[in-house]
Amino acid sequence: MIFRNVTRLGLMGGTFNPVHLGHLRAAEELTERLRLDRLIFMPSAAPPHKPDSNLVGFDERLHMLRLAVQGQDKFVVSDLENSLTKPSYTANTLRVVSGMTDPGCRLFFLVGFDSFRTVAQWRDCSDLFRLASFAVFRRPGLGSGLDSVKEVLTPFLGAEPDVELDPDGWGGSLVWPGFQSVLYYSGCTLEISSTDLRQRLEEGHSVRYLVPDLVREHIVGHRFYRGAT
Ligand code: ATP
Ligand code: MG
Repeated sequence: MIFRNVTRLGLMGGTFNPVHLGHLRAAEELTERLRLDRLIFMPSAAPPHKPDSNLVGFDERLHMLRLAVQGQDKFVVSDLENSLTKPSYTANTLRVVSGMTDPGCRLFFLVGFDSFRTVAQWRDCSDLFRLASFAVFRRPGLGSGLDSVKEVLTPFLGAEPDVELDPDGWGGSLVWPGFQSVLYYSGCTLEISSTDLRQRLEEGHSVRYLVPDLVREHIVGHRFYRGAT
């Protein structure tokens, strides 16, 4: 239902263990830049690349996301991956979501370069680029813009894409014939990671100003990430 009546729909997958201001700021900037009508945060139920011992349950990660997006009407949180086959493969999710949108709706998959650089190992990798436009964003210290994106994709999308640079200097797009465009944006700069947050919490330190307050209160109140207590 949330996928209807939208012409530009963004999707941001992740473990969100827990969600933090880095995720939210990237989402905000890309929503603006891509002129999205709606952005769906979709936590993965069983992340294939993260058999993490400190993974908080799906419902709790979903709840923290819902607390995090309060007040931003364009952001919604979906529990869809919990009802799909597991592990959660992005190609499968994109197939299902694109089947739930109106004809003419353009789907954008938002992903940071840290995650994107492994895309060749994702299930049905080249299908991904038929199912959605990719909006890859910079992660500090990783990759060198459009060239790095091209390097990742050339081995399986083929020779030479058309390259178009954005006039404002923040990125550009690559278009391989037969595939949807792959956009790059270099403006996301918050160096926050869930791994670092979990470590701080495990050691009993503060995570104030790294996550939304409602999320912080929930984490602290439930003693999440405090080890075996
Ligand atoms: P972990 O440390 O457990 O890997 P994470 O902070 O990297 O967690 P994920 O759930 O793995 O978060 O990432 C979900 C998505 O958010 C990915 O596309 C990732 O590139 C992006 N992302 C993660 N951290 C940031 C950040 N600080 N700024 C912008 N995007 C981020
Ligand atoms: Mg990560």
